[in-house]
Amino acid sequence: MERPFNKILVANRGEIAVRVIRAAKEMGIRTVAVFSDSDKDALHTHLADERYYIGPPDPLESYLNIEKIVEAAVKTGSEAVHPGYGFLSQNPTFARRLQEEGITFIGPPPEVQEKVGHKLKARLFFSQKGIPIVPGTLKPVSIDEAYDEAERVGYPVLIKPGGGGGGIGMSVVWSENELKQAITKASELAKSAFGLGEVYIEKYIPKAKHIEVQILGDKYGTVVHLFERECSVQRRYQKVIEETPSPAISEDERKTLYKYAVKAAKESKYVNAGTFEFIFDMENRKFYFLEVNSRIQVEHPITEIVTGIDIVKEQFKIAAGGKLDIEPKRFGHAIEVRVYAEDPLENFAPSPGLIAKLREPSGPWIRVDSGIYEGYEIPPFYDPLLMKIIAWGKDREEARLRIRRALEELVIEGVRTNVPLLRGVLEHDGFIKGNYTTRFLEESGVLESVKKYMKEEDSKRATKKKEVASPQSGVTYVDVWKLSSRLFY
Ligand code: ADP
Ligand code: ADP
Ligand code: MG
Repeated sequence: MERPFNKILVANRGEIAVRVIRAAKEMGIRTVAVFSDSDKDALHTHLADERYYIGPPDPLESYLNIEKIVEAAVKTGSEAVHPGYGFLSQNPTFARRLQEEGITFIGPPPEVQEKVGHKLKARLFFSQKGIPIVPGTLKPVSIDEAYDEAERVGYPVLIKPGGGGGGIGMSVVWSENELKQAITKASELAKSAFGLGEVYIEKYIPKAKHIEVQILGDKYGTVVHLFERECSVQRRYQKVIEETPSPAISEDERKTLYKYAVKAAKESKYVNAGTFEFIFDMENRKFYFLEVNSRIQVEHPITEIVTGIDIVKEQFKIAAGGKLDIEPKRFGHAIEVRVYAEDPLENFAPSPGLIAKLREPSGPWIRVDSGIYEGYEIPPFYDPLLMKIIAWGKDREEARLRIRRALEELVIEGVRTNVPLLRGVLEHDGFIKGNYTTRFLEESGVLESVKKYMKEEDSKRATKKKEVASPQSGVTYVDVWKLSSRLFY
């Protein structure tokens, strides 16, 4: 399929909007960016062919405003909309509204979203189909029911919002006397973040790895997996570093994982790109289904790098009715680090502001997916993800050393970033060995190394004062270079 659409609208911002625009351009598809008042100068608006204003900075009035985005798509004559991740990407109402206007939603159809998008409904559905889920409740629990349920499941337990995401509102409860407060808090947070106060209980698995499977499905029932990603380096239940393959599971365990994911995708009649997330319990070496992310994911590039498959282009083709015709193979190892404008020593508080200086890394086998540029001011209203750096290596150690090198090259002046933390993790024995768990940041002591790397980062400058003596009068550097090169030939 040469060109699945003539023109699409990208209903997102930041690095993922840039990522989608790039794939579209490579396929000859015209692109429309949408932007709020605080994004007039955002990178995605500069790279798209057209831009459309959608309202105030508050996401509820712009990037989450369904009618505004539908209007933008209709008025610009866009044939399809790519939602990126977050915002409206998992919202079936949005997908339906687009359908009504005859516009294609580039993602799973609303019926699939409804089946898999709600965590609790997904647990029920997949457990009925024989996929192992984390032990816990299959329906929302009230405070009164919670005591019995938590007792049955066994402490520690994890309280989760039924319709949640992004790690919001989750909390671990170690004993009965913390339960009431945790449920109340989770419910309040869930209500304000997702408009749905219901919460449920899962067994908390202390020695866990987060391992997920990338899936692609077409409209004709073909489902393929693009192997796994391990995303156990997390803060506040959110991923910071991802890699593929997972360094900690055997070939047999891998096969079991793929079997679960493909079965789950087929049972839910999954269409387009999606990720089936699992928790791997290191103690009994079993996988338990967590949730489906029915959209493109932040960490998709590591899969692209080891398979050579452009997942966003596949999304376009599938949405346009194309048949999947890929036979994924994996080669080497890839690691991604997420660079956030946040302070690792201040409980990861966001640190928006002006990017005074920027030098992005490059060189062999480094990919940078960035949403920023020098002179850009990061607005305080959105996710503070600045860029993702992805490195490929023929093996894990080469990928690790390469991404370490890339982080040393990276210079960002003007805002605090988590780069010192990323560097600390890459050097930590637990990471190097590969047996780290989701509690790695809390338990490994790696946060203590942050200060050292912070000092190093502070002494880096994108532009240094000239330290070399000026060349002799009349002869410039270039001239000298030409002269010396001539002497050799
Ligand atoms: P991943 O794609 O790796 O699963 P996250 O789960 O961190 O990444 O989510 C990607 C982005 O989407 C983050 O910016 C997160 O804050 C946002 N997000 C995820 N789920 C929701 C949700 N239900 N509501 C609002 N934002 C969400
Ligand atoms: P979100 O929608 O926020 O992505 P998930 O259910 O995917 O929610 O969980 C996010 C992270 O929280 C997981 O990657 C994992 O680190 C942790 N987590 C979730 N459920 C459990 C559990 N039952 N036991 C231990 N850790 C868990
Ligand atoms: Mg998740």
